[in-house]
Amino acid sequence: PRERVSGQHSAPVALSYELFPPRSPAAVDGLWATIRELESTNPDYVSVTYGANGSNRDTAVELLHRLLSQTTLRPLAHLTCIGNTADELAGIIADLLDAGVRGILALRGDHPSDGSEEHPPGALNFAQDLVELIRRVEQRRSAMLAAGKVAIGVAAYPTRHPESPSEQHDIEVLLAKQRSGADFAITQVFFHPEQYADLLLRARRAGVSIPIIPGVMPFTSLKRLQRLAQLTGVQPAPELLAQLEAARDDGERRRVGVRATVQLAKAALDAGAPGIHLYTFNQHQAALDVLDRLDLFRPVPPAARLSQRPTDHLVED
Ligand code: FAD
Repeated sequence: PRERVSGQHSAPVALSYELFPPRSPAAVDGLWATIRELESTNPDYVSVTYGANGSNRDTAVELLHRLLSQTTLRPLAHLTCIGNTADELAGIIADLLDAGVRGILALRGDHPSDGSEEHPPGALNFAQDLVELIRRVEQRRSAMLAAGKVAIGVAAYPTRHPESPSEQHDIEVLLAKQRSGADFAITQVFFHPEQYADLLLRARRAGVSIPIIPGVMPFTSLKRLQRLAQLTGVQPAPELLAQLEAARDDGERRRVGVRATVQLAKAALDAGAPGIHLYTFNQHQAALDVLDRLDLFRPVPPAARLSQRPTDHLVED
């Protein structure tokens, strides 16, 4: 538990991290060193990504199991629906719940770039369909779970989703996901604080009331920023790219990137963000540097811990 100590507000701030499953046996030890470092910051949860079409299902499930059995962390399992039937997905959801997972980030996933996509009969088309399916599976297992026990997150977009006709359409989709049972949203990466503030405003006006947590990526790698722009269509600020390019060495690059990330995260908190979700890329140092400079670490007295935080519904049994 932590409170924001800078700025005018003192509301509790939710903290979470994104990890991806190790891509090779050699990456496992490094990932676990990162997990232990992140665990020491007492986050509200850590999310585990999932390859569209279940490409890394086994390693994702293995990581979720280990997080549940060997750490104090609460996992949020990403799940994508593209290319899978409702029956297949219902089985995966049931397995996650049986393993003890109580938070799922319901996503559609991206179409494969080589156009090799399969559309089995009964495949789900949108994240909204997956949210509804999770709620149905949860209800069927009501002997084990109280209704509403599973926290469902969804994606939100500060800049237009590449396939969407407009930002207004993105808001309508977010509202539809809320109505289908989503509890909170995490945003795609963004580079300008006004993009997040504007998303919040437009969402609230349209009737979206769930917490919208900004997804913040430490801007410490030029290569990663360029790849992200390719993958998501989100363009980094040219000044930031220029500063990273001009940095003399990795140390300076990290200082520049961390400073820019902290500015962005602080501006999002001042705009009313209920927390920060850090995309770690399985590296703890940049994430911890950002966190240090955000002043989120004032311990909260035990009584105050009873107060509601945006992700308090992600509770353990
Ligand atoms: P949707 O909400 O289904 O939207 C997809 C598109 O369809 C949008 O253009 C939307 O406007 C449109 N749409 C949605 N519903 C309707 C409707 N009812 N009628 C008409 N149009 C509609 N990808 C992965 O593969 N693995 C991950 O682990 C992963 N994690 C992510 C985490 C976060 C926080 C974010 C922001 C994204 C993540 N992604 C991940 C990427 C995500 O899968 C892509 O952005 C994908 O293109 C869209 O997913 P979505 O859940 O937003 O889909």
